Amino acid sequence: MAALVETTGLALHFPAPRSLGEALRGQRPMVRAVDHVDLSIARGESVGLLGESGCGKTSTGRLLLDLVRPTAGTVTFDGKNLRALDKAGSRAFRRRAQLVFQNPFDALNPRFTIARCLAEPLVNTGVPKAEHESRIAKALERVRLPALARFESTYPHELSGGQLQRVVLARALVLEPEFIVADEPVSMLDVSVRAGILNVLREVRDGMGLAALYISHDVALVRYLCARVMVMYLGIIVEDGPTADVVRQPLHPYTKALVQAVPVPRVDQSRAPLPITGNVPDARNPPSGCRFRDRCPAAMARCAEEIPALRDVGDGRRVACHLV
Ligand code: SF4
Repeated sequence: MAALVETTGLALHFPAPRSLGEALRGQRPMVRAVDHVDLSIARGESVGLLGESGCGKTSTGRLLLDLVRPTAGTVTFDGKNLRALDKAGSRAFRRRAQLVFQNPFDALNPRFTIARCLAEPLVNTGVPKAEHESRIAKALERVRLPALARFESTYPHELSGGQLQRVVLARALVLEPEFIVADEPVSMLDVSVRAGILNVLREVRDGMGLAALYISHDVALVRYLCARVMVMYLGIIVEDGPTADVVRQPLHPYTKALVQAVPVPRVDQSRAPLPITGNVPDARNPPSGCRFRDRCPAAMARCAEEIPALRDVGDGRRVACHLV
């Protein structure tokens, strides 16, 4: 299937805060948040980006939406390099690709009514006013919220967390995008309302045929929403494949640890401890060779010397490990 979103050698490096010693020595350490990532997402495909906090997932999502400039590499959307778009092309891209914010309590302007929050992206992207009402009505229906009249004089603080997240999703959908990036879409919500939001996300995905990248630390959420999953560790993708296969038979030692941390199928975003020791290393100074080697129970001498390439291993799967 033709890719809607595609990256080649995508990287994002930025200066890290300096310690006094580094400042005195004139050193400027760099954080390598994303390092040479090659990925593609087809039209209508739901892909999970899975990994622990600080592994580069959110930075990758922001790069795909052209919210930050890559240090190296390219992002193409519908065959066009995002960095080569003219003003009109860039504006069209802003309509076609949307971010669903992680924290609904911060995503909406508290001084705007919900109706105004929903109309704002339409105004900002130049959608004719005559279309606003019907587009908002359709988006509210998709996220199973009451009709617009209910929100004409309602402010964000009057809604529950679950209702706010539905408004945030509707706000992205009014532009009828082809691609969304949803960053930890239920992590800020009460457990009791998460399942309802996940059902809405699934209905929206199926109803609109959206391509989506769901960023999450939760294997169960990715299994529920995504046909394919990419596992990220310290700025690189270490495994990629059909979600059912990856969860049933993970190949990379890091994926095995993530899957083992979820002993029973559930979608409750709980954080069971990973069955590996140590924390994700400092992205300013990643280990030589395989970035996972300090925590990998199967590490060997070669792993310190040679970076494992993300190789195609058949059945639609890619893995970056010398053992596989
Ligand atoms: Fe472990 Fe080596 Fe494979 Fe890295 S390359 S995951 S250290 S076995």
